[in-house]
Amino acid sequence: MNQIPRIDPRRPFVITAAGLRRITLGETGSADPNAAHWSAHGHGTAARPRRAVSDPRHVLLVVAHSERGALDDHACQALAAAALLADAQTEVALLVFGELKDDAAPLGADKVIALPTFDRRAFAPDAELRALLACAAALSPKHLFLPDNATGDGDLGRRYAAATGASVATHVVEIDAGHVGTYAQVKRAFATRSLPDVILLAPGAVDTKLPFTGAGESLSGDFLLGIGDGAQPYRDLGLEEIDAAQVALEEADFIVSAGNGVADIGAFEQLAGVFGAAIAASRVAVDNGHFTRDKQVGATGKTVEASVYIAFGISGAVQHLQGIKDCRHVIAVNLDGSAPIAKRANLTIVGDANETIAALMAAVQAARRTNGRAPAAASVREPLGAAA
Ligand SMILES: Cc1cc2nc3c(=O)[nH]c(=O)nc-3n(C[C@H](O)[C@H](O)[C@H](O)COP(=O)(O)OP(=O)(O)OC[C@H]3O[C@@H](n4cnc5c(N)ncnc54)[C@H](O)[C@@H]3O)c2cc1C
Repeated sequence: MNQIPRIDPRRPFVITAAGLRRITLGETGSADPNAAHWSAHGHGTAARPRRAVSDPRHVLLVVAHSERGALDDHACQALAAAALLADAQTEVALLVFGELKDDAAPLGADKVIALPTFDRRAFAPDAELRALLACAAALSPKHLFLPDNATGDGDLGRRYAAATGASVATHVVEIDAGHVGTYAQVKRAFATRSLPDVILLAPGAVDTKLPFTGAGESLSGDFLLGIGDGAQPYRDLGLEEIDAAQVALEEADFIVSAGNGVADIGAFEQLAGVFGAAIAASRVAVDNGHFTRDKQVGATGKTVEASVYIAFGISGAVQHLQGIKDCRHVIAVNLDGSAPIAKRANLTIVGDANETIAALMAAVQAARRTNGRAPAAASVREPLGAAA
């Protein structure tokens, strides 16, 4: 199957701070030129004003699971959708299943309820539904927004709609204050309707750049504590660990990637095994015969979305960067601190890839020998002459 994502020629409009927009033949097209509700400028690093809310009468409730204390991009889009649609009498509340370490105010949330006792990796749909029903009963939201994903939120939104008889729209690809749109008949038709009670958003329907922030006030989730307890009609046997090498690159959360600068491929593969990371490669490393074509990341390879992507001896050519644009943390190991990958990387280790691989392996093994205690950071970095 061809995995290369293609632009949908009939793609819907994306809701942005300047209204519904899409790029048409290199130009930005607008669904309604008068729709700009907020200025699209000023949402970079400059301080943004707080969205004005006075005499709040309504609530838009955004619900999402967190992953290791953070919301993923899709969840942030659901939050941005609510924030963009909220008027001056409407507050945006965020209910998070799991721990939330990040500040949700810049993402547009006015009120935040985090339920750290829940864990995305545990299967507890009934408990989650009970907590959501109780939260909705307390806040009386006008609409619920959830990312329509396969990792808990999409399922929870459907369960909520079924339990309450609420109206629901799934796989929503276009939204504004007046309507939601979704593909129908295997994408041959486009269906629209007015905003339903529960809105399950497809990824990419919302631009998360907001010209304002939310109030970000933390609310105690104590009133929801214990609601999730109680007998479950099933037993959660937990997650089954599989060999990282078996995970499709597009699904891998932790990837180590080799480029032309990696000489000892055996040591690199060993490191991947020690880390439990999936293996990827640049096109040159694939062309050299070190890896099979399915490991290639980039414009003519795969697009990956790992939380951590370590690029060993990869220059960061534009075609390679295209494949890692959605990765959360990129770590580069390169002899050349001015290689293009350093501009994309969140952390650059200026050093030899092969020495770094050996040092990392020694550090992990030493840590495991001392009963799983984490290695001291200096023991990893000192021999490498690491520079952030
Ligand atoms: C149409 C087209 C499509 C392409 N598609 C892709 C694609 O999908 N994916 C892809 O990756 N490329 C693709 N390319 C190729 C791309 O342009 C680059 O040539 C390629 O990514 C370079 O691979 P590299 O960084 O591993 O090798 P190099 O460019 O050779 O870079 C090696 C890097 O390793 C560093 N280095 C060297 N020795 C060491 C060492 N001992 N320790 C640490 N660092 C070291 C060097 O400083 C350098 O930065 C495409 C090109 C074209 C024209």
